[in-house]
Amino acid sequence: MDSVYFFIYFYLFITGSCVGSFANAVVCRIPKGISIAKGRSYCESCQTSLQWYDLIPIISYILLWGKCRYCKKQISFKHFLFECFGGLLFMLSFYCFGLTIETVLMFFIIMVLTVIAIIDYQTMNIYLSTILTLFILVIVYRFFIQIDFMTLLIGGLCISVPMFIFNLIIPYSFGFGDIELMFVSGLLLGWKNNLLAGFIGIIIGGIYAGYLLLRHKVEADGHIAFGPFLVLGIITSLFYGTEIITWYLSLFNY
Ligand SMILES: [Zn+2]
Repeated sequence: MDSVYFFIYFYLFITGSCVGSFANAVVCRIPKGISIAKGRSYCESCQTSLQWYDLIPIISYILLWGKCRYCKKQISFKHFLFECFGGLLFMLSFYCFGLTIETVLMFFIIMVLTVIAIIDYQTMNIYLSTILTLFILVIVYRFFIQIDFMTLLIGGLCISVPMFIFNLIIPYSFGFGDIELMFVSGLLLGWKNNLLAGFIGIIIGGIYAGYLLLRHKVEADGHIAFGPFLVLGIITSLFYGTEIITWYLSLFNY
């Protein structure tokens, strides 16, 4: 690999891990109603404000052996994982899209989708602030990479409207956040890939719900967080949607 590429990947990893560190703070703060903009990061155990040298992504965690400098309590490994994930994701994004605006936008879009999935998994709630952030990123993405308006409009409505109607028949079957998520993802994916995303999300989520029911881990009238499965469907569709749809249609072309 020539050295220019090495430095680009290195730079993207560092930048990505910083964004990952921030995204991790967002995951911790939004459900608690703590503002993201103000207030220093603090230790969750001893509440001590952390210094800049405690907050260097990945490196601080390794140097401190995963323990708080002040109270020596274990710091959750998920901080470290999220920082590595951010770094690797930005590198992967560059690998897929090269030196384009798409690399940056895809990185941030997938980061926000991941934040939505994790918060939903932890709290069964998709927050409007995260949906709006995703919406703005998708609009910017669609400003640079345009497809025809009808494809986007149908994309926005093709899953969200049926979900909404389903909710009228069986109240609370989907959260309102799920419906908003599938509307925004339609603007990102267009209608064909969004149908696929919804299909993947609902099938895998359904299998998981069935598993929980069989193991008596959830009541028949209970709820599961659908967001993570929808996000899984959206990301799969984003990268492989066209291939999967082409493969599926080819089955009928004998
Ligand atoms: Zn501490």
